[in-house]
This record gives sequence, C-alpha cells and structure tokens, in this order.
Amino acid sequence: MGRRVVVIGAGFGGIGAAIELRAHGYTDVTILDAAPGIGGTWLANTYPGAACDVPSHLYSYSFAQQRSWSRLCSPQEEILEYLRAVAREHSVDGLVRPNTKVTACRWDDEATLWRVETEQGDEYTADAVVIATGQLAQPSIPAIPGREDFAGTEFHSAAWDHDHDLTGRKVAVIGTGASAVQFVPAIAPVVGKLSVFQRTGNWFLPRKNLPYPRSVQRLIKVPGVQRLRRWGLKRLYLESLTASIRHPRTVGPVLRLKAQIFMRHQLRDPEVRRKVWPDYTFGCKRVLFSSYWLPALQRDNVEVVTDSVERIEATGVRTKDGRLHEVDTIIWGTGFRTTSFMFPMEVHGRDGRSLREEWAGGPHAHLGMTVPGFPNLFVMYGPNTNTSGGSIIVYLESQARYVRTALQEADRRGAAAAEVRPEVEAASDAEVQARFEGTAWQACDSWYRDETGRIITNWPGYMLEYEKATEAIDPSEYVWLEPGEQKVSG
Ligand code: NAP
Repeated sequence: MGRRVVVIGAGFGGIGAAIELRAHGYTDVTILDAAPGIGGTWLANTYPGAACDVPSHLYSYSFAQQRSWSRLCSPQEEILEYLRAVAREHSVDGLVRPNTKVTACRWDDEATLWRVETEQGDEYTADAVVIATGQLAQPSIPAIPGREDFAGTEFHSAAWDHDHDLTGRKVAVIGTGASAVQFVPAIAPVVGKLSVFQRTGNWFLPRKNLPYPRSVQRLIKVPGVQRLRRWGLKRLYLESLTASIRHPRTVGPVLRLKAQIFMRHQLRDPEVRRKVWPDYTFGCKRVLFSSYWLPALQRDNVEVVTDSVERIEATGVRTKDGRLHEVDTIIWGTGFRTTSFMFPMEVHGRDGRSLREEWAGGPHAHLGMTVPGFPNLFVMYGPNTNTSGGSIIVYLESQARYVRTALQEADRRGAAAAEVRPEVEAASDAEVQARFEGTAWQACDSWYRDETGRIITNWPGYMLEYEKATEAIDPSEYVWLEPGEQKVSG
C-alpha cells in the first residue's frame, strides 16, 4: 500500500509499530532515531544492574515470545539483544535511520501530508507520523547550584561513564528511584565510600531475580507452559498491583502489609530504617522490587543522607545542615523529564497550530495517542499511557494495532487522514482524569504529575481495559480529511 509512514523512535514502541504496519501491507515505513541504533531506553541505560522490573515473559512482544530468558526480569543486554533480533526477524531493522534527530513535524494543509525535518537538514514526507519517543528518554539533572564547580567526575545513570573506574572511589548517588535501586547494590561492594542522597523513601517488595535453575528453564520450554505463565502474569500478578493502587483503602493495605513485613525484616539497622521508611500511601510512587537495595544501604561503606542537597562544591556535596560530603564522583539517579514527551521537537498541525501550545495546560490525547488538529499524528506512550502495575509493551502493542486500524479505515474511505473530534478527545480526557479520584496516585507528589498536580503520564486503569479501549479505531470518533484538500467528512 502506498501510505508513507514515518516512525520517530527505534525502541520497543517504534519497532513494534513498524512490525505491525508491515505485517498488514504498509511497507513504506521509515524509522528515525537520534541514537546510533535500535533499542531506545535499552540502548541508553547501560548502568550496572540494569534490568527490566516487569517479568520478561510479559516485558516482550506477544508475537515474539522467547523461552530462553535467563531470569525472571532480564538484564539490559538480553533485552537489547532480544529487540534487535525481533527487528531483524521481522525485517524492520533495515528501516531504521540512526543518528537522525527529528527537530520538527509540520502538517502541510495543501498537500495533506506531514513534513518531518531533521537536525541534518533533511526532510521526509509522510502520510502519517508515529511519535514513539517515550516518556523516559530525556535524562533530568536538577538545577542544584555549583554543579559547574565540581572537580570530580559526574554522570547521569542513563549516560553511564563506563571509562570511569569506581573501584575505591568516594561516590555520591543523588536520587533513589528505580534506576538507583538497581545500580547502587551493584556498585556498593566496589566503591570505597558511597553516600546515597535520598529525598523520599520507597515502598519495596522482594525480588532476588536469580538466574533460573536448569529445571525451570526446561519447564518453560514445555509447550503451553510459557503461554500459561504469560496469562497468569498478565491477568493476575500485575493487575493486582494496579488494583492495590486503584483501591488504597481495601486492596492497597494487603500489598502494603507484605511490603512492611519484608522491609522490617531487611531493615535491621534502626537508624537506616527510620531514614528510609516511606511516609506516603503505598503505590503513589512506583513500588520497587528489590531484595538487594535495603541490605546495600546498611553496608559499612554506605551512608544514607536525608538532609537535602544545598549545593555542589569542588570537592563534594553540601547539605542543608552545612555538612560537606566529600566525593570524587557524583552519579545522578534523578530520573527523566517525563512530562516533556517529544519536546523540544516542534510539532505543528492543521493551520499551523503548535502542539506545545495545545498542551500548555497539560498534555492530553485521546487514548494517549491522537490530538484534535493533528491529522494522522499518533503518539505512542503518550499522555496517560504509562503503567505503574503492568507491562508497557502491552500498551505499545495496543497502540501499534490502533494506528494500523486507523490507516486501514482511511484506506477504506479513500481519506487522506484521520483527525480525532475535539469533543471526543475532551470527553475521554475528562474520563481518564476522573478515574484518578480516590486512587493512591493522587496521594503524593511524583513524576506522574505536572506542576499543577494533574496526573499526565499514567493510565488510571488496568492493562486489559486499555487493550480493549484501543482494539480498533472507532470511525465515528474521527473526522476524515479528503486527499489534497482541507475539507472534512464525517
Ligand atoms: P525516578 O524514579 O524519577 O527517580 C528519581 C529520583 O531522584 C527520586 O528518588 C527523586 O526523589 C530523586 N530526585 C529528583 N530530583 C531530586 C533533587 N532535586 N534532589 C534530590 N533528589 C532528587 O527516576 P528513575 O529511577 O530513573 O526511574 C524512572 C522510571 O524509569 C521508573 O519509574 C520506571 O518507570 C523506569 N525504570 C524502570 C526500570 C526497570 O524496568 N527496571 C529501571 C529504571 C527505571 P523523589 O522521589 O523525592 O522525587
């Protein structure tokens, strides 16, 4: 089929979309990525201990199940190798243009197509654009004064400096989110002294994530076992975490009790226990799975610092109590600019309207994907499609399918493009926001919210609800643009 599709991003989202489109006859697909290759977050995040925290049988495509994962939650190299192999097997690896940073997408009203501009000055034209840049692509380093004065080495966890040997060093880790929770236990035995600067404690559930014994590896290879396991993980295990977040008074306390017993058992040092015990509702921030983090914090060479960081100086980190923590290395485990989505990319839709301006009051999109005024523009992992309990791959596959059905419907009608009706988008946004009422997500501040407190990253329900809602495009929710004209038809 003749439709040209430009996909921006060669991570799980973009690769999945390209596979889905090609499998249904849309062969003119180009994938642009600023990075040097396939992988997205799994290419960027190479820190020691990096692994997924959702079981691999679910953190993988449904159509490309692998039975050789080495453990429940696979390490970064295995996931990256898997994604590359799937891209190769489905012949989409050759569609990727690496080192190609998109600076702007502009809808051409006359020609009813998108013009995609790159940093190199190239322009790609496309009938549809899929923005699959994700929510966790732009590392965030807080604006703490004095950073430029630091005489040692500093880097963000998503841009790990593997040339910098940490053996015996005095290291500061700032931030204690999902990334730090993985790399701190990996580096603590190696460094000389480790100061972990924590702003907020986390809720933890146990996970040893040891390599599968041979017997389990063999069992997984028995026909049907994998399918059953995936079904169980999807329907019961992960949705139960979402249930605990959705119902913080009834289901939440059950999982919280499990976390409390586990944490109390691990936290033998009363001083560390006092410092790290979370003071907010279970599930409000991401619940973390690790059997190694709390023991690492109680090592003799590790100190948990809860006084807030005031400034960075040449020889270390100065906290509010006036103490200078002398270090030669600072590792920023401070997460990502999650609310920036694809920006600073310029996205201009019909009549030149700017997505940045449309989203000035907070990003919003129908099913996280489509925005009124932006025909045939689809955002993957867009507003309100992150998951605290499920696997993002399930969401990405649903989105890829939805995009494909949108193009098929446009073909069927002979339309140039689909544009979501403003009232449909407004209603679905209102419904999504209303569903956060009374949930744990509303009980504290987190990276899920913007500065007004609106939750803009997460889906408020279950994976299965999202899958169902996005099964296929509902043509009545869209206006259909005729080719080469600005006219719309119902
Ligand atoms: P994160 O969860 O956003 O954690 C950032 C940490 O930095 C938090 O502890 C935060 O404290 C702290 N922080 C931010 N600004 C600070 C400041 N000015 N001073 C002191 N501390 C500050 O980031 P992340 O750990 O990189 O994880 C981000 C997301 O990536 C995760 O939630 C998860 O979705 C994904 N992820 C997944 C995996 C996996 O699958 N295994 C691994 C890593 C990441 P506050 O809590 O007080 O804000």
